[in-house]
Amino acid sequence: KPMENRITDIGPKHFEQFYPPVIKANKGKWAYHEVLQAGVLKHVAESGDEVYTVRVGGARLMSVTHIREICEIADKHCDGYVRWTTRNNVEFMVDAEAKVKPLIDDLESRKFAGGSYKFPVGGTGAGITNIVHTQGWIHCHTPATDASGPVKAAMDVLFDDFKSMRLPAHLRVSLACCLNMCGAVHCSDIAILGYHRKPPMLDHEYLDKMCEIPLAVAACPTAAIRPTKVEIGDKKLNSVAVKQERCMFCGNCYTMCPSMPLADTEGDGIVIMAGGKVSNRISYPKFSKVVVAFLPNEVPRWESTTDCIKNMVEAYAAGANKYERFGEWAERIGWERFFDVTGLEFTHHLIDDFRDPAYYTWRQTSQFKF
Ligand code: SF4
Ligand code: SF4
Repeated sequence: KPMENRITDIGPKHFEQFYPPVIKANKGKWAYHEVLQAGVLKHVAESGDEVYTVRVGGARLMSVTHIREICEIADKHCDGYVRWTTRNNVEFMVDAEAKVKPLIDDLESRKFAGGSYKFPVGGTGAGITNIVHTQGWIHCHTPATDASGPVKAAMDVLFDDFKSMRLPAHLRVSLACCLNMCGAVHCSDIAILGYHRKPPMLDHEYLDKMCEIPLAVAACPTAAIRPTKVEIGDKKLNSVAVKQERCMFCGNCYTMCPSMPLADTEGDGIVIMAGGKVSNRISYPKFSKVVVAFLPNEVPRWESTTDCIKNMVEAYAAGANKYERFGEWAERIGWERFFDVTGLEFTHHLIDDFRDPAYYTWRQTSQFKF
């Protein structure tokens, strides 16, 4: 509530101001919903009111021109109302069935110069919804892969499953461009994770000048960094040393100290994880497991990554029971069999063999153990 009735410009406006009238009138009083076709939902309220939602895939990074076009469509068909989902889809809502077809026809008629959809309808039900990704080298300092590039390439090979509902259940694909994972890849059906494989490089001269050394030391989750003195020529510098066998390449030290970069063309690449979910339907939520330890960054189309994901989706489509999520399918057939049917190689890199007495008391893992 505004304090003392003052109007301020601090923070966003209350979201209730942006509800379409039919949503506001029926809030909390919805009787049921159904998925009419891929990308089209029907919600029916206890009052008998109906809402039809048409979902389209959105680009994660959008130009102002593109957003203006979305607003123009919302003005034309939806009385100016539009919403974004947490997976970067855009949803247009109308309050009568007769308004649905003109809206869909308009959306699907808008194409880019090359003929591809600007506003593809889909992403609901037993299919693949939009892939979410983190920011990557658009703004962040620790990515081990691009974010938009592999996601665009993966979505291109999965696009038919965005526009259809042939899969046993919905399948969420996510990307995080480093293992700090602000992209929720730890609980996605299939996850693409950018991964560094080399410890930070140390620029001792800059470290001495720029680094708050206690902060860099404290930032390391595995206590791999210690302060030290380094002699270069006749200079004795304050710097750090990294115990390489303790480093898990997380980049936290680089967050604190710009003289400890760890991005490396050969060392960086992609890890594929699988089997996670946040839903508690049928079985409890699950963390994803690493199923491919490393794939190279193949700019611009990431062929090894997209081939791997496509194979996993096809094996799941062929083998899972109806309503079974990816991880539930893998657990039912057994992870050994999962590696057989997907053609993935099980290597020792997939086994979590982290051993450190400092962590024995509390550390647990959801990865493969031996
Ligand atoms: Fe930055 Fe890592 Fe998040 Fe990517 S996943 S935006 S690199 S913290
Ligand atoms: Fe420690 Fe992570 Fe830096 Fe390695 S990359 S030294 S684990 S903070």
